[in-house]
Amino acid sequence: MDELRQQRILRQHILTDHLMGVGTVPMSILPQAPAASERPQQAMPPRQQRPTPSTPRPSNFQLSNQPPAPKPSPPATSVIESLWSRITIPNAAGNESLTVEEKQQLLDQMNTMEVSTCRQCDLCKARTQTVFGEGSATAELMFVGEGPGQNEDLQGRPFVGRAGELLDKMIQAMGFKREDVYIANVVKCRPPNNRTPQMAEVQACGGYLLRQIAIIQPKVIVTLGGPAAQLMLNTQTGITRIRGQWHTFDALKPEGPSIDVMPTFHPAYLLRSYTHDNRKKVWSDLQAVIERLGK
Ligand code: SF4
Repeated sequence: MDELRQQRILRQHILTDHLMGVGTVPMSILPQAPAASERPQQAMPPRQQRPTPSTPRPSNFQLSNQPPAPKPSPPATSVIESLWSRITIPNAAGNESLTVEEKQQLLDQMNTMEVSTCRQCDLCKARTQTVFGEGSATAELMFVGEGPGQNEDLQGRPFVGRAGELLDKMIQAMGFKREDVYIANVVKCRPPNNRTPQMAEVQACGGYLLRQIAIIQPKVIVTLGGPAAQLMLNTQTGITRIRGQWHTFDALKPEGPSIDVMPTFHPAYLLRSYTHDNRKKVWSDLQAVIERLGK
């Protein structure tokens, strides 16, 4: 087997482990694949003027989602910090008083007027459609994954493949229906070959997720897999070390509440490593969530 092929296989295995939430091998040792950045860059089309909403937006939703200034491969932590610093969520406390219809309207507006036509990063080039997220606009419990896969890209819905079926079973086991919770991803377009989203893509797209959280204001967020946990918790610690412990999402403060975050393994990882030990760990994480929600 030639060296290039060996490197490709090694890279694929390590990326898959990170996608599934078990990044035991540091990404930094990955053999370099031909980077997207080495391909000729297309000029970004001019930003379209947003249509005026048919109903006035509450003043507490003047949120920033400007495209980031291009930077040459900054360290991952600084990219995440940059994302957090440019998302401003004034008066998040007022969102508690919005009705389910008002919250749904805000989510729909963001989806139709911004996300569905978004071209802020290269992931738009290969997508069939964006995958915004779905569920109850007043959900107490929100699941956050990493990005859409092939089935999600085709259907425009999050977690609809085999991993989605397993997530549905997990939700049912917790005593919820799928429509009771909210399910979203960090990036709204499918990364090619289901690779982990690059930090520039997370930086471009993560603001949509933070705004979804600001509107829904769930009591608990369960992150699925390593990359989602690392974005939400602003950390580079691997999922094996942070799963099963309570963390706090403070981006809505001081006006809004802190939100409890429970990182757990991605359902796709569970499908691949369907061991008693892994199932026990995930179920233990979900039981802690049930207890926190007082169910
Ligand atoms: S991944 Fe997000 S930021 Fe990138 S094009 Fe899709 S919606 Fe826009």
